[in-house]
Amino acid sequence: MKINIIQCKNLLTKSRLPEADYCINPYIGCLHGCVYCYSRFMKRFTGHIEKWGEFVDVKTNAPEVLEKELRSKPKKGVALLGSVTDAYQPVEKKYKITRAVLEILLKYNFPISILTKSDLVTRDMDLLKGFSDCDVGLTVTTLDRQTAKGFEPRSPSPQQKLKALEILHNAGIKTYGFIGPILPSITNLRSIFVALEAKVDFIMAESLNMKCGNWQDIQDLLKRKHPSLLSFYQSRFNRRYWDRVGEELKQLSEEFNIPLKGFYRH
Ligand code: SF4
Repeated sequence: MKINIIQCKNLLTKSRLPEADYCINPYIGCLHGCVYCYSRFMKRFTGHIEKWGEFVDVKTNAPEVLEKELRSKPKKGVALLGSVTDAYQPVEKKYKITRAVLEILLKYNFPISILTKSDLVTRDMDLLKGFSDCDVGLTVTTLDRQTAKGFEPRSPSPQQKLKALEILHNAGIKTYGFIGPILPSITNLRSIFVALEAKVDFIMAESLNMKCGNWQDIQDLLKRKHPSLLSFYQSRFNRRYWDRVGEELKQLSEEFNIPLKGFYRH
């Protein structure tokens, strides 16, 4: 694992994502190293030669840069923390950049949304409770520990993520479950809805995107751990497949009375 200290020039960037106006990424790279990760395209812009998941750049001046950005020009909208990195990946324990960034955002009462795979987010509950507009999502793609370990090798277990959602929700913080990417024949939507019940305010979901440089890694993992699914994944799932998944999500959302805020398809 390679950890580099870097200085950033800007932090708050305009977002093209439907759920956010800005993105904040306190790190470049992500040590969670998910096999399906779409953010690996970031390697192109940073000159890293290491494998995705094996490097991280720590933007140690991120809080000062953000403070300057918010002070110089008032901005409106919602900032998503962690669009191409995980703001609560393991290095955050030591560097606390995300926590310092949150302190600045709280000072300006800037609306935020967090998406993470780590229960470390509960460390910052004291700050999160102070925001008037804030939600926190944890990604759950499967409830099976071993399967999760294969796809998300260095992220906390599904059970730790569920526990984090429960703690945040019980503390009065708005929470959501992010079911994404949905892994065909692996992600059991019903069992995830059951597990998320009474822990989240809404759900978001996303289809699996295999066109972003991740196919080789997905294929290698399937060969090793799920060989019977290999040819199914090679068929690349047509539109009708994802239409059916969308229908199932809608039905489950009604049955469990948990709003489905979005299903992103690639
Ligand atoms: S946690 Fe998110 S950013 Fe990090 S490797 Fe996994 S999918 Fe990519």
